[in-house]
Amino acid sequence: MPELPEVETIVRGLRDKLRGLEFAKVEVYLDKSIQGSKKSFIVSLRGRKIVRAERQGKNIILHLSGGVALRVHLRMTGRLRFVPAQTPLEKHTHVVFSYQDHPGQLRFVDPRQFGRLGVEKKRVGDKLSSLADLGPEPLEISAKEFIRRARSKHRAIKPLLLDQRFLAGVGNIYADEALHRARIHPRRPADSLEEKALRGLYRALRRILQEAIQAGGTSVRSYVDASGSTGGFQHSLRVYGREGKACRICDAPIVRERVGGRGSFFCIRCQPLRENMSGPDTR
Ligand SMILES: [Zn+2]
Repeated sequence: MPELPEVETIVRGLRDKLRGLEFAKVEVYLDKSIQGSKKSFIVSLRGRKIVRAERQGKNIILHLSGGVALRVHLRMTGRLRFVPAQTPLEKHTHVVFSYQDHPGQLRFVDPRQFGRLGVEKKRVGDKLSSLADLGPEPLEISAKEFIRRARSKHRAIKPLLLDQRFLAGVGNIYADEALHRARIHPRRPADSLEEKALRGLYRALRRILQEAIQAGGTSVRSYVDASGSTGGFQHSLRVYGREGKACRICDAPIVRERVGGRGSFFCIRCQPLRENMSGPDTR
């Protein structure tokens, strides 16, 4: 599933291409890709101009003229591509947007069909009411605030990091990678972690997200950016998808266990569950 760095890469790829375009024609080939009715989706877009594209958590938001926004959540396998209109329709293309006086089309492609697009009225400023519960962005929150929020929760740290109300945009890949770099076991209750450990986690998470954005995201399954290119961060992964392979820090085999319902990759030597077991100090 695309996480913060992948969605950010897609938005950066679309931003300049889409700015100022006016929706002329909207074709929907799969009703369930649309939130609400297909008819009102099509009608509410026609004639609107794209003012700005941005990312909020794992959501792509196109701010449109007239105080509305088009929100896209890619979920598992959704992709947004901007291509010349004469490009043959790719399999699993569910929505096609054409523009006034422009030869390009924005296409939503989604083999697993979990992705959703919806048009929403904006209330105050650029906040969408459907995203009112979205937590702070990890690249914007302060260390102090991150630590305060984490220490008030008794949940295991891994599922907490995945909770979009706690922090926006983090998913399975970057949670596992950040916990490994910060040497924290995914099952450790957040409120049992010392301030120093949480500060380390905060730094690790931000560094990894920034590195992944620089690399154009992680392509482990289907992810490609808006021009169809794969990302490069999969080569920098230390634990995610590496079950049974040697830990890059200590050589112990990486294990995979379910934590909070999600497959989690970690090193039991670098990330001991009990505080008094310290791993080898190689960094
Ligand atoms: Zn290790």
